[in-house]
Amino acid sequence: MSATAQSRLATVLERYEPVIGIEVHCQLRTVSKMFCGCSTAYDGAAPNTHCCPVCLGLPGALPTINRRAVELVLRAGAAIEGTTPPVTRWDRKNYFYPDLPKGYQISQFDLPLAAHGRLTFDTSLGPVTIGIRRAHLEEDTAKLIHAEGADGGRVSLVDFNRSGAPLMEIVTEPDVRSAEQARRYAEELQLLLRSIGVSDADMERGQMRVEANVSLRPVGTLPFGTRVEVKNMNSFRSVERAIEFEIVRQGAALDAGERLTQDTRGWSDDRGETYVMRSKEDSHDYRYFPEPDLPPLRVDPAWLAEIRAGLPELPAARRVRYQAELGLSAYDAGVVAGDAGATALFEATMDAGRSLDTGRPLDAGRPLDAGRPLDAKQVANWVTVDYLGLRNAGAAGSTITVDPAQLAAIVRAVGEGAVTRAQGRQVLAEHAERGASAAAIIDARGFRQISDAGAIGAAVDAVIAANPAAVADYRAGKAQAIGFLVGQVMKSTKGQANAAAAGAAIRERLDGAPSGGATEG
Ligand code: ADP
Ligand code: MG
Ligand code: ZN
Repeated sequence: MSATAQSRLATVLERYEPVIGIEVHCQLRTVSKMFCGCSTAYDGAAPNTHCCPVCLGLPGALPTINRRAVELVLRAGAAIEGTTPPVTRWDRKNYFYPDLPKGYQISQFDLPLAAHGRLTFDTSLGPVTIGIRRAHLEEDTAKLIHAEGADGGRVSLVDFNRSGAPLMEIVTEPDVRSAEQARRYAEELQLLLRSIGVSDADMERGQMRVEANVSLRPVGTLPFGTRVEVKNMNSFRSVERAIEFEIVRQGAALDAGERLTQDTRGWSDDRGETYVMRSKEDSHDYRYFPEPDLPPLRVDPAWLAEIRAGLPELPAARRVRYQAELGLSAYDAGVVAGDAGATALFEATMDAGRSLDTGRPLDAGRPLDAGRPLDAKQVANWVTVDYLGLRNAGAAGSTITVDPAQLAAIVRAVGEGAVTRAQGRQVLAEHAERGASAAAIIDARGFRQISDAGAIGAAVDAVIAANPAAVADYRAGKAQAIGFLVGQVMKSTKGQANAAAAGAAIRERLDGAPSGGATEG
């Protein structure tokens, strides 16, 4: 947002409070479609190769319920702490559009598989809980492709591969109060759905589609204003930008005394603005009625209990545990729990650390402290800074492989002072690239850290003799001269000196007494 737009937003927010409700559609991780046996692995396939009479909506074809799809929505419902009625139902949502071959979509209207849930997440202004009205199951539409025909005219083509794929819709209460909260809600929902294996929820690939209903009301008043529904936002950033734009646009319209209309608007990422797609006048009357081709769906309480019991640790609980039990900062806990790769590596590295046997003493002078758990904060640091750094530096979508046992060995080697932090970082990068073990890389590179007082002392003496100006500066009270001298020691030892030991040795020599308050003897 430009500075002027930012200040316009701030001005609007002085007088109006945004009221926002979010609708999310998610493709479910099933192998077959919602009401037929066609495969859902149509990504990249030739058009119209994954269809049958059922998902083409041919007359007389009858639907059969995909049990796995129902299970995944129940799992999502359990994860958002929703309730499931003993009997749910399928309803027909009727409208005509070329991407809907039957002329209706099988969906759920008044008895969704899950209702009354919630989701809690952090924002820059603290934690927020958003009520979730419902999560229901429906079928996806076909895909329209607008192209240029052989005669140069415009044609619309239909690809039915997606037609009838299972789709979950999750609708919040109008509890969201800012563009940031809306973005954070969508991010947290994606994380949750991925962590319970319900959806890959990739926004760029259309597996997760976010729509926002946005209205304003004068600060301090209760009734909701007229809402606008915003579609076509295909990244988290565009969710936030589109809502900020709508708040400013609606605020200006209300200030000008205009009456807002209940439009559906699209978001143009390039232009950074929303535009009218259709107005309320052409909104559909869906004429919902119970689906006559399917019986009501009774959810066996034992099955539901099994699904609840089978939920893994959810991201919110994980963040709490990382802070309360492992002592991670809120920030680190959020970063580690916020990424599936980071979570898996962190957990497995901690596990590996508990049974670490690197097979060789990394520092001949000291016993290997196997069996003692690794310092969780250190491991979190390696995962969030180094692992994610390496991964994000790679090409988009590329993955890197880090063996948790090797990361554990690196963390321990650095923690014990056998190699420096910088050397450890190089070992990790090389391991991630070539797969070699940490011990082999340390050997091959001749990495070790000089902590031995005699060896460091010799390097320190040489540096002091060669840098009289810095020594004079230090003696004249310029404390930062010590940093320069330590740097010279690191340089002369090719980075292998223990920096803390070098600093202490320099001070000891220049102050004429051991620093750090050691009063041995
Ligand atoms: P529809 O069925 O037309 O999509 P719903 O009443 O189901 O309408 O609401 C859709 C979404 O809009 C929900 O997330 C709801 O919380 C939200 N919503 C409803 N009224 C408002 C409003 N005045 N301002 C903002 N959001 C709203
Ligand atoms: Mg809607
Ligand atoms: Zn089919």
